[in-house]
Amino acid sequence: MLTPKTTRALRLFLALLCATALRAQSTRPEAEKQLAHDIYEQFIEIQSGYTTGATTPVAEAAAARLKAAGFPDSDIFVGGAIPKKANLVVRYHGTGAHKPILLLAHTDVVEAKREDWTTDPFQLVEKDGYFYGRGTGDDKAQAAVWIANLIRYKQEGFKPDRDIIVALTADEEGGGPYSGVQWLLKNHRELIDAEYALNEGGWGESLDGKKISNDVQVSEKYVINYRFEVHNKGGHSSLPVPDNAIYRLAVALEHLSNFGFPLKTNEVTAAYFQQMAKIETGPTKDDLAKAAQGSQEAMARLAAATPAFNATLRTTCVATQLEGGHATNALPQLAAANVNCRVLPEDSADYVASTLQRVVGDDQVSIKILGDGSAGPASPMRPDLLTAISETTNKIWPGVPTVPIMVMGATDGKYLRIAGIPTYGVQGFFFDRNDIRFHGRDERMAIQSFYEGQAFLYDLIKQLSKP
Ligand SMILES: [Zn+2]
Repeated sequence: MLTPKTTRALRLFLALLCATALRAQSTRPEAEKQLAHDIYEQFIEIQSGYTTGATTPVAEAAAARLKAAGFPDSDIFVGGAIPKKANLVVRYHGTGAHKPILLLAHTDVVEAKREDWTTDPFQLVEKDGYFYGRGTGDDKAQAAVWIANLIRYKQEGFKPDRDIIVALTADEEGGGPYSGVQWLLKNHRELIDAEYALNEGGWGESLDGKKISNDVQVSEKYVINYRFEVHNKGGHSSLPVPDNAIYRLAVALEHLSNFGFPLKTNEVTAAYFQQMAKIETGPTKDDLAKAAQGSQEAMARLAAATPAFNATLRTTCVATQLEGGHATNALPQLAAANVNCRVLPEDSADYVASTLQRVVGDDQVSIKILGDGSAGPASPMRPDLLTAISETTNKIWPGVPTVPIMVMGATDGKYLRIAGIPTYGVQGFFFDRNDIRFHGRDERMAIQSFYEGQAFLYDLIKQLSKP
């Protein structure tokens, strides 16, 4: 029989057991945390700014650690567009029952100046519960964790049902000619060919310490710049005529400013609104649910409510630069504007251009695409992947929903999607939604978040590749 005393002891024991069980689940054992930390520190302390730095030392440091852990030279590749912009690719062999998974992270960082920062950006500094340093969030945490976890799988003798490929790549931030993902796709596609890829671009959102959602980036808007141009024969400004290049352009831009592309959802944004309707408690809750069901009225109210909802619901085009005229006392011979469009994956560049032409309604305003304007398709909403992500999320952070998102910015995922490798941004690192410091000063990552993200990605990849 249980006396009150033994009951109390039992309760205490159970409480302790639960606490340890939860703790054991939310981070990896000490030795694995230490390994991830050491790799992270090493990566942060290599200056890999995309204009002034080099990614090769990061690739070499990772290769050395993998070799020390027993990965054969034949499974490790180090190379890139130029000697200082090397990428690392490593393959961990599975049974081959399925096509490989590619785990991607970029190793270049946005420049950081010591004088702008509170701490040295190229030292990993622990302060007030955070890791500080350039790349702590974008994107060296994921790079370090991919390597540390892969080493752990090998130590365990884990045999996945597919190859697991990790690629740490150069020059995501600058784009440009040394982009590791583009270079690998062009020159060594066989090294990174995969059924799908996991990458940066989706992270956990928290607010005042409370976790709100674990976001999965499924698609991205793509960018096209159009040049609006009006030419005119000009003349002396003392003899003005009604037909004026600057006025014509101004009218065209006025039309553009009054126009909005159609409001709509796609597979990803409908799922996003559906999940947000569960999280939201304020007045938009109803509209989020209705927008997910296709209600035009609800979409219109959401678009009017915030620029972020507006950008999620439609292609947007906005004038960003102007030029025109050549002298204070001459009628303008040229007036031009740059119009920057952020296009939904399902809208084509031709559709956007013809819509702009119609909206402007003046055939003297020429509209031409600048740059390549190639569209990036969305990744399919794979139920197997999204289920694995939400199950793993719930295991580590019970009750935190997994939210599919389409982002307004661009990552290397675009090139992989174009090449036919669907890419998903998922990290499990949580950041305060009002304090995102990527690319800014005093970039940081909560220490607990780093280790929980390590555990999340460890479990997720096993879940996706266990036989
Ligand atoms: Zn990044």
